[in-house]
Amino acid sequence: MLAVIGGSGFYTFFDADARSVKLDTPFGEPSAPVTVGTVGQHEVAFLPRHGASHEYPAHKVPYRANMWALRSLGVRQVLAPCAVGSLTPQLQPGAIVVPDQLVDRTRRRVDTYFDSGAAHVSFADPYCRTLRTAVTGLPGVVDGGTMVVIEGPRFSTRAESQWLAAAGFSLINMTGYPEAVLARELDICYATIALVTDLDAGIHVGAGVKVIDVIGEFEKNIEPFKKLVAEAIGQIAAEYTCTECLSHTGTPLPFDQP
Ligand SMILES: [Zn+2]
Repeated sequence: MLAVIGGSGFYTFFDADARSVKLDTPFGEPSAPVTVGTVGQHEVAFLPRHGASHEYPAHKVPYRANMWALRSLGVRQVLAPCAVGSLTPQLQPGAIVVPDQLVDRTRRRVDTYFDSGAAHVSFADPYCRTLRTAVTGLPGVVDGGTMVVIEGPRFSTRAESQWLAAAGFSLINMTGYPEAVLARELDICYATIALVTDLDAGIHVGAGVKVIDVIGEFEKNIEPFKKLVAEAIGQIAAEYTCTECLSHTGTPLPFDQP
């Protein structure tokens, strides 16, 4: 099964015809009940990352419970739309980008299911090639870029922002990690679809990011963004065949295969 984890402003995905599934996990409850419906040839699960009414800020999202809940439903592919700031003038608000790399600058999040033993997942390429290709094949979508994930909830200082931009990173966000690595640990294919909502502090002359601007930009773009996610799902083959996103930890997962 395929899943969409909706980001800020992305609280619903199905208009009708979806069933709601309440789940519990060894890591607590996920952000919200999961809704399951149909998009084209796919059965799709949807989970709003921040809760049904944005009760979980980025640093409080139950990331482990979310990914575990989806995997327990049989999800093996996740598309993860999210809001991002741009660190380059080349990516203006409204741009849709599928990053190919990630830099973790979070500090206080549990980012593994393995609390004992020696399990080290490969993470050189954090995103699934198959899923990325499904999205980047759509018109207007920017292919590639490095997304740096900060702890939040505050936005960056001007100096931080200039430093991250100088390092060559193009996008900045607060939720892309540990979601991506938890997916990898559970053998779930994962790709981010980033909607640029603002230019981060310091890359232009101005007062820096304000949350009101981010929300405004998101509301303006959310319906076309949802449509794009649905179109991306249409590009994904019905049969799950990816072998590149397996964690290879040697530790069996407590889920039925596949
Ligand atoms: Zn994959």
